[in-house]
Amino acid sequence: MSRDTLKKMRTELCDVVKYSLEINGETYNMNDLIGKNIKIEWKGKVICNCGEEKKKFFRSGFCYNCYWTLPEASQSIFKPELCTAHLNIEERDLEWEKKFQLAPHYVYLANSSGIKVGITRKSQGVVRWMDQGASQAILLAEVPNRRYSGDIEVSLKGFVDDITNWRKMLSGVPQSVDLVKLKEQLSEHVPEEFKQYILADNTVTEIRYPVNKYPSKIKNLKLEKNPVIEGELFGIKGQYLILDDNRVFNIRSHEGFVADFFYNDIPKQGLLF
Ligand SMILES: [Zn+2]
Repeated sequence: MSRDTLKKMRTELCDVVKYSLEINGETYNMNDLIGKNIKIEWKGKVICNCGEEKKKFFRSGFCYNCYWTLPEASQSIFKPELCTAHLNIEERDLEWEKKFQLAPHYVYLANSSGIKVGITRKSQGVVRWMDQGASQAILLAEVPNRRYSGDIEVSLKGFVDDITNWRKMLSGVPQSVDLVKLKEQLSEHVPEEFKQYILADNTVTEIRYPVNKYPSKIKNLKLEKNPVIEGELFGIKGQYLILDDNRVFNIRSHEGFVADFFYNDIPKQGLLF
């Protein structure tokens, strides 16, 4: 992606999650900007990873061509239970798929807006939870490939959600849940052949976000509709910036948008930058 496009914020698990945004060769420590005025100005262009301009907005940040050809955008990316590299069966690019799928994966339980089950590459672990705005998380299983994690996830979908309700996630801190107990209960529903992968480690990761004030009635901003977004930054959770006037902005869903970023020390609406 080019240097002037929006990319998801980097996260670091500390006492409170630390966020940084890289754009136009600058790195902004976003936590320091809470309580200040920020402005994001869209230049009217969206660039795909391949460098092509996206003429029409296409799914998951890919241009039309990439979406229909790249292994990164194949069906099994969205549905891990369709992965076949462990059987040597190609979907779009077997070499790539082997590298991506035949790596250790986790199945986890997270509490972000209620309990959900999810999967992630072992190396992504905590980053994934922070991106989703989870407040608590526990590992359920570690499996040798992506397909098995997808199979376990599917077996648990009847009991817990597999998507995050982002509106609920942004409305406050969820009620604390006994994830260890829940893991025990759900583990019984894991298919026999996968039970060997259930982890004995019951560490619960607690995650706190830098939010001064949560919105009460959420207005979700999109750059296509509001090319200039400005206001006081109230906080950050998941990949969302929480702004004044109950507005939220999802950085992740705007990856590839060519934009400028500004901030101003004086938290006052309508201020000139
Ligand atoms: Zn592309």
